[in-house]
Amino acid sequence: MDDLELIIDLHKGALRLGPGSSEETGKALKLTNLNLSEDLKIADIGCGSGAQTLELARLTRGKIIAVDLFPEFLEKVKEYAEEEGYKERINTLQCSMDDLPFEEESLDLIWSEGAIYNMGFQKGLLAWRKFLKPGGYIAVSEITWLKEDRPPELEQFWSGTYSEMHSLEVKKDQLKNCGYELVGNFTISENSWLDNYYTPMLSRIPDFLKRHQEDKNAEDLVKEEQHEIDLFKKYKDYYGYVFYIARKI
Ligand code: SAM
Repeated sequence: MDDLELIIDLHKGALRLGPGSSEETGKALKLTNLNLSEDLKIADIGCGSGAQTLELARLTRGKIIAVDLFPEFLEKVKEYAEEEGYKERINTLQCSMDDLPFEEESLDLIWSEGAIYNMGFQKGLLAWRKFLKPGGYIAVSEITWLKEDRPPELEQFWSGTYSEMHSLEVKKDQLKNCGYELVGNFTISENSWLDNYYTPMLSRIPDFLKRHQEDKNAEDLVKEEQHEIDLFKKYKDYYGYVFYIARKI
């Protein structure tokens, strides 16, 4: 199996594919001040299995388009949406986030938890802005440095993993320069990394390794994930996922 197939296989049983929680999805939504009526049109970009898509459906009466590149995850979104009775309000779209087919000024809210990094923070903010109605909102969570004087092994790991790893101040400036007014931001809790993302992933690893016995790529993937988790446990005060909620200006 190639690396991408292995990543999908490791994550496809998960509810959350990155750090986050329903409480934090709700907290970010409140900061938008939007009218959560049936007229609301939301796109959830890089939705994964749809944990936050479902929470948005629970908290609003609007219509949500859940977008992801991989059908394996969208199948999960469909399954959960059907189970919870949101089939009419949640539609899925298999598409790349850098090639979205939306009409200009057609969305009230763009949501993206732990996914804009796939395109790059600034590139995503700029490309998606045109889809928002005037005064529409964007809510994105993005990994961010929270302290200066980072330990070299941490700096090396994250700078090598994501070229747009920056401080809160830089991210805020980028939002402004891309045509948004920040209305609020907060850092996602430690439990949202451990309880909702890393611990469930660790519990899937034994079965994953059984499915891919003697596959060096699978073993390497597990080592990389374990290294990321170890760094988080050691240095979690230095960085975090920050939710940025901003209005199109
Ligand atoms: N929002 C989900 C969550 O928090 O559980 C998923 C976060 S996961 C870290 C990133 C998601 O982005 C994955 O579901 C992945 O399939 C999706 N993705 C990666 N590249 C993409 C692209 N080019 N276009 C759309 N989605 C993409």
